Amino acid sequence: MKYVIEGRKPENIFRFFEDICAIPHGSGNEKAVADYIVAFAEARGLEYKRDAVHNVFIKKPATAGRENEPPMMMQAHTDMVCEKNADTVHDFLKDSLDLYVEDGWLHARGTTLGADDGIGVAIMLAALDGAAASHPALECLFTVSEETGMDGVTNFDFSAVSAKRLINLDAAEVDTVIAGCAGGVRCNLTLAGKTAANKREKTLKVKISGLAGGHSGENINHGRANANKLMGRYLLALRAAGLEYELVSLTGGGKSNAIPRECVAVIACDCADKAVCVAKDTEAKIRNELAACDAAFALEICETEPAETSFDADTTRRAVSLLGIASNGVLKMSYKMQGLVEHSSNLGVIRTEGESIIYTFMFRSGINAQLDQTCAELEALADLCGATVEYNERYGGWDFAEKSPLRDSYAAAYAEVTGGAPKIESIHAGLECGFIIDNIPDMDIISVGPNEVDIHSPDERLELSSVETLWQVVEKVLAK
Ligand SMILES: [Zn+2]
Repeated sequence: MKYVIEGRKPENIFRFFEDICAIPHGSGNEKAVADYIVAFAEARGLEYKRDAVHNVFIKKPATAGRENEPPMMMQAHTDMVCEKNADTVHDFLKDSLDLYVEDGWLHARGTTLGADDGIGVAIMLAALDGAAASHPALECLFTVSEETGMDGVTNFDFSAVSAKRLINLDAAEVDTVIAGCAGGVRCNLTLAGKTAANKREKTLKVKISGLAGGHSGENINHGRANANKLMGRYLLALRAAGLEYELVSLTGGGKSNAIPRECVAVIACDCADKAVCVAKDTEAKIRNELAACDAAFALEICETEPAETSFDADTTRRAVSLLGIASNGVLKMSYKMQGLVEHSSNLGVIRTEGESIIYTFMFRSGINAQLDQTCAELEALADLCGATVEYNERYGGWDFAEKSPLRDSYAAAYAEVTGGAPKIESIHAGLECGFIIDNIPDMDIISVGPNEVDIHSPDERLELSSVETLWQVVEKVLAK
């Protein structure tokens, strides 16, 4: 195989990474890369375990003299996001990535690079291959399908793990140590209603659009409005203005973990002028509030073809009240870490299905008890409105630990290598670390990585010198 990365140390990290890039390994298609990792372990006589979903767990004994020290676990995910430019011909099930180096950064021509998290995989393989001269016993976990719901780590049998310290290698800034993440729960609230023949004179379509949207965790405190909630505000304003109307349909957002950018409501009423007047008034007020973060916001209203049926008055009343008062946005900022969102809610999707209206929420918190509380509150709200709640997916949070010997050791090693202190941050999004601490509550965890930019896009790139820096720090941590 011809390698494109030259003159970097330790060489085997980069060789392993290029080997992985030659093997297609999009989410759900990790068998071949697991075969590669298993062959690696067998060739070196390392103890390994592969499970049914192709997670691989490899153990390597300590170097001489360090047999009595506690083991160190390392972990990275083997899958990558498969994105390519419209004009790029690439089959993610068959083709190798086409790598090139430019100004010290590694790219894949026209596609994602999969440094997220192939570089973490390569670093573990290098460590297992003997790149570190001195280390305690190593326990390396290679998980699948992190990018599509974390099915690998969810299915892994943690009884094989004896380590109480974990270096997760899925972060993307070399000067930052991630020290906590949010857990999440996705839930559907279903409001069963009744429809009846529409007897109103006018059918109106109301559309909210132009919002910036974004990730429901990372961007939840950036002032970006939620289109579904703005629609709730308008519908409540109509009620306050004394207009009688019935809902025909409600449709907003596409994903529970994205802040919805658009929402459309169709309503039936007798007085279109009043609805238009309230729309203009509501639009002006919202526009004023959103000038800084969502300047392109628009609220439009127009007449549309007459609806044959609509929800009845009682269903409309309950549905609009629920939309208006459902929790959304930042619920609590952290007092442990400045600027960190601790707890949030996102009303990501609303849709009409037959005689029901379904509201999909994503709640996040680093503290599991807060998630429990938000769920209890949603159930109480559902109870008041005659609705039901079901939970689809829940994963644990990793709360920032005041004491972390591993974090201290990493920070000291980082200072020795770079002369500076790393930033210590928690993030308001999910990481596999949340599942791991669910299974091993006393695990001391850090999440680190080299500089990766524009991940999950064809512009994804990896700064090669930052991999060298990261390795030097990790090597020192292992040597202590
Ligand atoms: Zn990742």
